[in-house]
Amino acid sequence: MTDRYGRRFPYLRLSIVPACNFRCTYCLPHGYRAAPGAAAPLSLPEVARLLRGFAALGMHKLRITGGEPSVRHDLTEVLRTAAAIPGVRKLAMTTNGTLLSRRLGEWTEAGLNAINVSVDSLDRASFARITGHDRLEDILAGIDMALAAGLPSVKLNAVLLRDVNDRELPAWLDYLRDHAVGLRFIELMQTGDNLAFFRDHHVRAETLETQLLEAGWEALPRAADAGPAREYRHADYAGRIGIIAPYSKDFCSGCNRLRVTATGDLRLCLFGEFGIPLRPFLQQDDQLDDLVRAIGGQLVHKERTHYLHQGRTGITPHLASTGG
Ligand code: SAM
Ligand code: SF4
Repeated sequence: MTDRYGRRFPYLRLSIVPACNFRCTYCLPHGYRAAPGAAAPLSLPEVARLLRGFAALGMHKLRITGGEPSVRHDLTEVLRTAAAIPGVRKLAMTTNGTLLSRRLGEWTEAGLNAINVSVDSLDRASFARITGHDRLEDILAGIDMALAAGLPSVKLNAVLLRDVNDRELPAWLDYLRDHAVGLRFIELMQTGDNLAFFRDHHVRAETLETQLLEAGWEALPRAADAGPAREYRHADYAGRIGIIAPYSKDFCSGCNRLRVTATGDLRLCLFGEFGIPLRPFLQQDDQLDDLVRAIGGQLVHKERTHYLHQGRTGITPHLASTGG
């Protein structure tokens, strides 16, 4: 799978449910509300067919996301189904971590080998204000369990918010000293629903990079399959830091991923103007060739870059709708 600009797409991000139990201020500030008449998320057989199609096109890294994926009762079965697809080598999940401490064993036994947990603040009150839930302690305990269990990749996502959590680098550095996690600072992105919030709280991630370099952190050379994060390390710290700066120059040149929504729409870009319904090709096992043609035929429509700088957020009301 290569597009007009020579980018390859071995990485699929599949949302398995649009619903979420949190109310993050930048994403679903009023909580999740189902659109009237909304279609049900893909069933397990539909997920299996979809993944076989992508695997036939060279996908080898899969991320399960949402909404909040653990809201789905058959999540463990979804993971087991995904892990059984030949070609899927890295099976990751992005979660808010609310069920991590209780379900980690079940998920890893099903085949999960990488996890990203969203932790926007290490301060209990601030975490509760951002997410609407006072769950920080339990989530941090779940992360410790994942590290103790030797999960090959444990990453944390923190969305940078001006005047909310943008002065917490010292607390994060304390944490990273003895936690071998990859912390990703993500610059807030504008979406269809969050314009006023975005204007108040957007802060460029570059300011953090300057602070890191001053504190002796070293930028790592970009790996060929690195995706859009810029990575930093420091010999005195067990953890690493990645910066995801979607408003930086050349952000899209490293794009290596496609997305499918919970109801089976292919999204070529997080901020694209259209989705391509794949669900009609997921109804029977013998539709694999048609599915592969439908996916492969769409790549010519993938644009060189997003148009966020012009405030064009496409059809994405919030990132819970696509999985981020
Ligand atoms: N519910 C799960 C979670 O929060 O990890 C998975 C879905 S969530 C949409 C995926 C990631 O997108 C999270 O790390 C979240 O913080 C991030 N995110 C959501 N809205 C965002 C925005 N407007 N700008 C930047 N990151 C955002
Ligand atoms: Fe839910 Fe994740 Fe959005 Fe927070 S960022 S509201 S946890 S989907």
